[in-house]
Amino acid sequence: MSLTYGTFDLIVISISLKEEKYLKTNKKALVGLLAHELMHIKQRRKGLDRAIRADAIRAFTKFEPKLRKLKIAQPVIADFYASIGESANFTLKDIYDNFELIDDGMGEYILEDYWNLYIAGKRFSKPKFYSVNDSDYKLIEHIKQAIDFELNLISAISPFVKMARAGNKKATKLVNFIAKNYEVNIGEVANAYDDVIQYSINDFKWSGQYRRKFFTIVFKRAFYLLDSLELEYRGVEVDLTKKHEHKSKRKRCVEIKERKTKK
Ligand SMILES: [Zn+2]
Repeated sequence: MSLTYGTFDLIVISISLKEEKYLKTNKKALVGLLAHELMHIKQRRKGLDRAIRADAIRAFTKFEPKLRKLKIAQPVIADFYASIGESANFTLKDIYDNFELIDDGMGEYILEDYWNLYIAGKRFSKPKFYSVNDSDYKLIEHIKQAIDFELNLISAISPFVKMARAGNKKATKLVNFIAKNYEVNIGEVANAYDDVIQYSINDFKWSGQYRRKFFTIVFKRAFYLLDSLELEYRGVEVDLTKKHEHKSKRKRCVEIKERKTKK
């Protein structure tokens, strides 16, 4: 992580003992890790962080009226979208960062670093998408966590899909490894968010329009997932009499894949 206060920049690197061992023996990974943090500083100085935040807010303001269609209590939906917006913010910053590094010929270095994180280490836990025992509120919480988790993965997926398309075999292997091991419990979310990955690569630009559309797709996919569940929320309180009925509806979640291809 990197922080900027005026003209002063600070890079903080937090690593586990296992990662430390790896970084000591893999110079490429260490360079990749440092280059990534330095790129955040370079891009922040160009005003990217501020622009991303402003574009996220603009995109959300435009999208917000659509949320009234959902029968979910306002504070729950506000918390849900705040969390997703925040995660998407980090994801987009990392996409800008890693794409510029790839264009600068540093792709191999960041690939080593991410390889270490995802293949050699067990840094990220695998969330459970939902459980039949979930209350309605818990279910929304789980969807939120699954989307946050997927957005986190996209920071790693988009740059390496870009490299894989250019013929890098190790990048292809990493992308497949992530899909097989980290998206295993969040298939519905991963499927819904594939658009975000494709868009981030195909339309990549240093422009506000690109960024706003990125956020809009992120928000739309979240809306789609919530709407697909078709649950009638009455706020955060669990209505036990309704619980049983919802069980069958929750299964629709599994059908999202089908519904998406029909579109
Ligand atoms: Zn980063």
